Amino acid sequence: MSERIAIVGGGHNGLVAAALLARAGREVVLLEARAELGGLASTRELIPGHRVDVGHNDLGMFRRSVIDELELARHGLELIEAPAAAAVPAAAGSDPVVLWPEVERTAEGLARASADDAAAWPGFVAELATCAATLQPLLSRPPELVDMGRLLISPELLRFLSAPLDELLREWFQGPALRAGLCGQALPATGLGPRANGTGWPLLYGSVLGASDRLAPVTRARGGAGALAAALAASASASGAQIRTRTPVSRILVESRRVAGVELEAGELIEAGAVVSTTTPAVTFLDLIGASRLEPAFVRRLLNVKYRGTAARLALSIDGLPSFRGLDRPALTGRIVLAERASDIERAADAAKYRRLPTRPWIEAALPTTLDPSLAPAGRHLLLATAHHLPFDLEGGWANGGEELRRRMMVELERWAPGIGGLVREQVLLLPTDYEDEVGATNGGLHHGEMNPSQSLWLRPTASAWAGEQLPVEGLWLGGAGCHPGGGVTGLPGMTAAVSLLRG
Ligand SMILES: Cc1cc2nc3c(=O)[nH]c(=O)nc-3n(C[C@H](O)[C@H](O)[C@H](O)COP(=O)(O)OP(=O)(O)OC[C@H]3O[C@@H](n4cnc5c(N)ncnc54)[C@H](O)[C@@H]3O)c2cc1C
Repeated sequence: MSERIAIVGGGHNGLVAAALLARAGREVVLLEARAELGGLASTRELIPGHRVDVGHNDLGMFRRSVIDELELARHGLELIEAPAAAAVPAAAGSDPVVLWPEVERTAEGLARASADDAAAWPGFVAELATCAATLQPLLSRPPELVDMGRLLISPELLRFLSAPLDELLREWFQGPALRAGLCGQALPATGLGPRANGTGWPLLYGSVLGASDRLAPVTRARGGAGALAAALAASASASGAQIRTRTPVSRILVESRRVAGVELEAGELIEAGAVVSTTTPAVTFLDLIGASRLEPAFVRRLLNVKYRGTAARLALSIDGLPSFRGLDRPALTGRIVLAERASDIERAADAAKYRRLPTRPWIEAALPTTLDPSLAPAGRHLLLATAHHLPFDLEGGWANGGEELRRRMMVELERWAPGIGGLVREQVLLLPTDYEDEVGATNGGLHHGEMNPSQSLWLRPTASAWAGEQLPVEGLWLGGAGCHPGGGVTGLPGMTAAVSLLRG
């Protein structure tokens, strides 16, 4: 049996696995279908002279121990922490809300609109921290049955896992904009509206993996999210890993229920004693292995996983900083949530359910050039406006709906930042279908499977098992966002796959 390990996919998780395994002295070849590394966390020159992050651009959840172990700073990674975590600009009749990492600073700002919300804020952050302390250890290894007990005896945790986020937040806060801002942080991971059960979980997941004692500040890599992929690739190569881009894998070779290697689309066969697949579980099993090699019950389980591409990103090159009502420059460095109340998000989710565009899309915006001006030519800013809760299977198709979505997004942006339309010089729109066609995410899903409680913890595949059963192919390890603990730029699925493989 070959000693080689083949890694399918060069998103950040595949690269983490490659770097850790190569550092442990194993022979590693990583195969990435596309020209650039980083997958959903890659950076492309979609507008000439601009470095546009195609997906996630906040590295606040990325495992710090992996940065140290792989010496990513030495390999070129420079992290920049934003002063702000999130903000909602002022709207007709409501004050702006700014969430700073520092609890007191946020409470001071909230006090201008509501003394009660200001008083409640420290307790809310403390409750997130208490839950985080219980959950933290479960997210960096496959969860065990005994862990279940720990969750069940914590009423706070059970509430986060089961209750609608809107209901949870109403127990703490009165301000609609504050609740909208918190929903805007959590719900892109789910495709669900804030009135759906279980939507407290993604808020907790983000808090646990960010910072446990305060709200996590947005953290960007200088040069864009793709700089993380570049540093990981440099670290992996320095340890001897071979990294091949423009190399799609067409088959994972299986002999007598054991992996034997991979076949490339170009026809080349690569022998390997182990394969770490970081594509979605659906692609790994149904496309690369083939349903005919799997038990019908396993195939049914795979087909039941929900992946819904719910995001479109409008990247705008703008002449100068736009003025979002009530927000100063430091407040513009984090996530900017453009929703007046949680029900704006609920309405968008309702429209998506029926395959329609929301009348008023809610937008998560970012101005990465406020922290890293090198992303755009001098004098320009880059605004990444992401509309969430969109239907992947839009009625009438995205070829017809894309332009209308762009128009509606511009109307919304103008409402929140009057005059912004006049600043736009160049633009590009990535539709939900582009995330499947161009980045390989099944149904354009951002997390390789939505981050709902029904698809998390024990109910998400781990590196080598699913729902208590070993994966049906020996020598195969899952290492992408579709497995535990899930999506986001955390590096944890890749790290868990590498650690599990090395342990055997
Ligand atoms: C618009 C947007 C916003 C987001 N916002 C957030 C957010 O706010 N918070 C958050 O936590 N997360 C967010 N995410 C999600 C986050 O970016 C992903 O969960 C994460 O990057 C997934 O990383 P990965 O390495 O597991 O998978 P991927 O990045 O998908 O990497 C998989 C790689 O496999 C490659 N591949 C696929 N098939 C093959 C094949 N047959 N052969 C070879 N290679 C193949 C693909 O090209 C890809 O490079 C967002 C994503 C998007 C798109």
